[in-house]
Amino acid sequence: MPVGLSVASVSCSSHHTQMKNIKQTPDNDSYRQLPGVDNLLRQSPELIKRWGHEQVSAAVRGELDRLRQALQKGEVVDTKTDAIKALLQDKLVKANEPSLRPVLNLTGTVLHTNLGRACLPPEAVEAVVAAASFPSNLEFDLASGKRGDRESHIEALVCELTGAEAATAVNNNAAAVLLVLNTLALSREVPVSRGELVEIGGSFRIPEVMQRSGCTLVEVGATNRTHLKDYRAAINSNTALLMKVHTSNYRIEGFTTAVAEAELAALAHEHKLPLVIDLGSGNLVDFSALGLPHEPTVADAIESGADLVTFSGDKLLGGPQAGIIAGRRELIEQIKKNPLKRALRLDKMTLAALEAVLRLYRNPDALVQNIPGLRLLTRSVEALSEQAVRLLGPLQNALPQAYTVKLAEGFSQIGSGAMPEETISTVCLHIKPTIENDASLRRLAQAFRELPLPVLGRVNNGVLIFDLRCLENDKALLNQLPQLGVALS
Ligand SMILES: *Cc1c(COP(=O)(O)O)cnc(C)c1O
Repeated sequence: MPVGLSVASVSCSSHHTQMKNIKQTPDNDSYRQLPGVDNLLRQSPELIKRWGHEQVSAAVRGELDRLRQALQKGEVVDTKTDAIKALLQDKLVKANEPSLRPVLNLTGTVLHTNLGRACLPPEAVEAVVAAASFPSNLEFDLASGKRGDRESHIEALVCELTGAEAATAVNNNAAAVLLVLNTLALSREVPVSRGELVEIGGSFRIPEVMQRSGCTLVEVGATNRTHLKDYRAAINSNTALLMKVHTSNYRIEGFTTAVAEAELAALAHEHKLPLVIDLGSGNLVDFSALGLPHEPTVADAIESGADLVTFSGDKLLGGPQAGIIAGRRELIEQIKKNPLKRALRLDKMTLAALEAVLRLYRNPDALVQNIPGLRLLTRSVEALSEQAVRLLGPLQNALPQAYTVKLAEGFSQIGSGAMPEETISTVCLHIKPTIENDASLRRLAQAFRELPLPVLGRVNNGVLIFDLRCLENDKALLNQLPQLGVALS
């Protein structure tokens, strides 16, 4: 290895010497001051121990190259080994920073799909750490000593909380819809209202998922109005099931009609067909009791006669990314036997988190404290106003004169497609360049994004808006403000 390295360094420096000879006279003296690759490596055992020989020697060569070029340009550089080692250390630390890391979500969208949707409660995080760190009874029945079912850890809880007979879970709700249709409707027809052929999150489109699941979509009704008779006319001997999609991310206003779940269930059952409802968000409790807009619960859907309901784990439920399928036992058994189920099944860490979150739902009175998403969504405007007043001064002081900070009312969104029309009153800090200027606004937003815990707001009409709804801890912002001035000066 050392032999190879010195060869590389020799060829490297001779290359540079040639380049230089063309343009200007090399400053041989300052070149000689630079330590050699081998020398630097020998003096950096602690760097090699931490990052490995390969990474450190690449960094050493890169850094020496850079210094040589700087010398060539006549720049003053510190060629002492210790100084170069300090540069190397910084460079290696930076290169090894995790790519996926926490951010401060001040966008005003609480369950932001691009920012990872729901944050897990500590109980769930502990369960994930335990499941990840140690062997577990994932598929082992401790009572009988025999092989167990990985879903045994969550199925009874889902049933208890939704009133369903049986349940299963997969990687996300898109997978749940795919699996249900592939199991129950392969090569057969599924009528869906034209008003429900939605696209969610840019990549999940009901018609496309239906096609990939191997069933044939039969569009019924019109975009704004679909009647029971439209479904009735679409049913034939090749119909596999009826499906209703909860159009969680948009709403048609005006002259509209949709068929209620109970009516559709009655029609399906009259023809011995199952009714599948893709509920999307899938909350387990009535949100109006928490002062939030009403959204149908999974129990409501089961109660109104749905044979299967699919919903996400990381939207309003507040758990890990998952897709839960709850409903009639016989249908769930069929779904579990589909070979695709194995490809879409949940990982042990997700199961651990999901079980812990579902357990918290057994105490509905403490949900708002226990589920982070619900806690954020129910923070009062008074609390947010007080927080805004606390932060206004320090934020203004940390910014150059060219920016002014103002307190403003606003509206937060629940996010992840849930109830887009229903916004929640909130309090924001508006930061504006004193002289209107796109470039300085962009620079400001970028400086916040480059903080150690990147701060993400939203830019609207020449203003950088920080919605305080998801800022539970002032310090997360305040402690970083001194670094902001440096970035903007
Ligand atoms: C969000 C949503 C989906 C997709 O769920 P993911 O968990 O994001 O895969 C499907 N259907 C509806 C109605 C949704 O709201």
